[in-house]
Order: sequence, then structure tokens, then C-alpha cells
Amino acid sequence: MAKKSGADQRMAALVSLCKRRGFIFQSSEIYGGLNGCWDYGPLGVELKRNVKEAWWRDMVMRRTDVVGLDCSILMNPRTWEASGHVQSFTDPMVDCLQCKSRLRADQLENNQCPVCGTKDRFTEVRQFNLMFKTHVGALEDSSSVAYLRPETCQGIFVNFQNVLSSTRVKPPFGIAQIGKAFRNEINPRNFTFRSREFEQMEIEFFVKPDEAPQWFDHWKQTRYQWYLNYGIKKENLHLRDHEASELAHYAAGCVDIEYDFPFGRAELEGIANRTDYDLKRHSEFSKKDLSYSDPEAKQRYFPYVIEPSAGADRGTLAFLTDAYAEEAERTVMRFHPRLAPIKAAVFPLVNKDGMPEMAEKIFADIASEWNCFYDDKGAIGRRYRRQDEVGTPYCITIDGETGKSNVVTVRERDSMKQRHVGMTQLKEFLRERLSGEKEWEA
Ligand code: ATP
Repeated sequence: MAKKSGADQRMAALVSLCKRRGFIFQSSEIYGGLNGCWDYGPLGVELKRNVKEAWWRDMVMRRTDVVGLDCSILMNPRTWEASGHVQSFTDPMVDCLQCKSRLRADQLENNQCPVCGTKDRFTEVRQFNLMFKTHVGALEDSSSVAYLRPETCQGIFVNFQNVLSSTRVKPPFGIAQIGKAFRNEINPRNFTFRSREFEQMEIEFFVKPDEAPQWFDHWKQTRYQWYLNYGIKKENLHLRDHEASELAHYAAGCVDIEYDFPFGRAELEGIANRTDYDLKRHSEFSKKDLSYSDPEAKQRYFPYVIEPSAGADRGTLAFLTDAYAEEAERTVMRFHPRLAPIKAAVFPLVNKDGMPEMAEKIFADIASEWNCFYDDKGAIGRRYRRQDEVGTPYCITIDGETGKSNVVTVRERDSMKQRHVGMTQLKEFLRERLSGEKEWEA
């Protein structure tokens, strides 16, 4: 019990820091908020953009076998019939007969209501479809029904032929997309972890059927390693193979990448071998042949699909959680430099003796390349602490030495050590360290 309250406190401290320093706010807070919806503040938007850009750079730009796509959120509703979502994208729901809370039947512990504690007093289980329904155009009848997409991958499947015919890709190759998805979750909870509006980062990787197992392994390792590369501690990251009973009926394998959040171990990303189910279903429903004709092997086949499907919000929450550290004298966010919302802060030691002018010049120079922060208020120690709390890797102070010998004092976040760097070398110094090319001491 004591352990749980420690975890609760840690989560509460993180949520409070997120609000206080402008990472994450409740959506439409002045009206009481909207359950399951969140807004990213000035620092949060930078952090989440950096997470998405790191994913795009590593999964699309740096690979020769993956191309990108950006599909509309509203799609022809036949898409969702073919994918099976209209019929079966449901969660089991019950109402507590005592306090009327609406709950997910499969998440009840000991058949007890988590809100009022009543045991064994629930309605019958009903299946609740998680898709948000709307209407397109002025007529609100069944012919105008549309859905907010509950996942980004279907846009990729329906564009499979367009991508094949407009580029020179051929299996094995992937199509990647980052975008919003919407699910009318019965119980949004755990901060941004389970939201009703969220962003996914998905790859559909198309392969020859007999090569699917080796590509599944490739993506499992690649995606697991990706989180470690950006600083997630190994002891907090886990791979969990699905039991046969957990697999979707069409899937030949699935593994989750899980993270130890303060509220427990939970899924960050799923990697699935979806077989040829999706392309076959869309062929059947659209009456367009989505099989692939392999000119070398002179054969036609439906590619198998390996799908690494990650949540940008869950990833961002994991990076926030992992970076958060409370030390004796300070709270510090140990973000990987590539993810840190602010890369460097510039401080004139005092607001006289030409220091602000030099500091402004340095700021203008480095801010053309990175998101930087200028602060000339308060004691220098307090300025350092404010940057530690939002994870800024480097603070640059312009002091008496700067005017005399053209050097600035650079202070590193994690070690809190300081060193002089020549003004003309500053940009290169930062570039080498922010990219991870060089260590702080080098
Ligand atoms: P869960 O079991 O947690 O509901 P899922 O298995 O339904 O997740 P997928 O359909 O595999 O999730 O979606 C892929 C990824 O999208 C998840 O790993 C997660 O990162 C993200 N995701 C899914 N649902 C949500 C949500 N409600 N809020 C935030 N992210 C989500």
C-alpha cells in the first residue's frame, strides 16, 4: 500500500510540474475540461514535436525502405466496414448500480466498483463501439454517416496501390504515418495515457508472406531499441509477447513494448504480424485488386503486413516520466538532448556592462538553429534551477570574462559542471553535443 501511495505521489508531482511549467493542460479547462482530452502547452508542444520528429527521422528519412503518408481523418465509411471496426471495435461496458459510474467490465478488480467500492452490483455487460460518429454534409441521415478514424493505419492500406504506382517501392517496404486518432474510451484515465483524442505513429510494412517472421523480429528489435536510444532506462522497458488467446483472429503474432509508469506497467506500442488480412478485406469490399504482382518472381500475392503502432502521447508521457528526477536541491528533467524542448538558455550575468547586448547577439545566433530561451531575471542559481526543471541541457552565461576574452560559461544540466567556451566555437560546441556526437567533457 505504501509503495502505491509513493507512486501516486510521483505521478501527482509530474502532473503538477506539467501544468506549472506549461507541458500539458486539461483541454478547455476554464469550462471544467473535457474528459479524455488534453492540450500541450509551450514546452509540451516542443517535446511532443521532438518525439514525432525523432520517429520520422529514424523510421522514414534514414531508411530507404519506408515512405511517408498523411491521410484525411474522415474516410469513406466503407473503410470501417472492411476493417471490421463498425461491427466489432467495441469494449465491454457495465454500469455500477450503486453510483451509476460507467465502467469497462474487463478492468474491474474483484468485481468491485473503483469509484464507490460496491461489489457485485453491475448491469449486464453491453458491447460499446468506440468510434466517434458524425455526419458529412447538411443531411443527418444514415447515408451521410462518417467516423473519426480510430487508428491511422487504414488510410495506409487504402492508399497501398497509389503509393506503389507513384513511387518505385516494392516489398519489402513500409508506409509510415503520424496523425490523430479518436476513440470514445469508456474510462479515459492515467493522465494522457488513455485519451479520447490522441496521436499515433504507425508503419505498415509490406513483405512476402514467407519473410514475415524475420521482419517481425526486425521491427520488434528496432522499435525496442529506439526508446533506449532516446534515453528510456532499460529497467523500465519490457517486451511482452501476446498469448495466442489475446491475438486478433487475423494476427499471426503480436508483441507489446511496455513501460513501467508510476501507475503500473502498460503498453507504449504494439508490433503485430497482421498477415494479409487488411489488403484482402479492402480488395473484397472495394472490388479493387490490392494484390502485388512481383515482376521478378513472376507471381502475384497479397503481401503480409508487419505493423509497429506507437502512440505519440504515450511515448511523450514515458519520456516525461523517465526524465523526471527529484534531487536534494532541485527537480530536474533529464531529457535526451534531442527531445529536450529547450536546447540552450542564454543568461547575461547582470543587466549592465554590455552583457545584455552580447547575450542578445548570442541568443539570435543560436536561436536560428535551435529552440532557445533568454532569461535576464533573478539570481543566476535560480535561473539554472528553472531550466533544470524543464530539462534544458545547456545554460550559457555571459559574464565579465566574455567582454575581456571572448568566452562564455557553459553549464551542463546533469553534472552541473561549468566550462569556458570561445564565442566563435559555441555553435559547433552545441551542435556536437546536442546531436550526441561528442560527450560534454570532450
Ligand atoms: P490499449 O489496450 O491500451 O487500449 P490498444 O492495444 O487498443 O491499446 P492499439 O489499437 O494497438 O492499442 O493502438 C496502438 C497504439 O496507439 C497503442 O500502443 C497506444 O500507444 C496508442 N493508443 C491506443 N489507444 C490510445 C488511447 N486511448 N490514448 C492514447 N494512446 C492510445
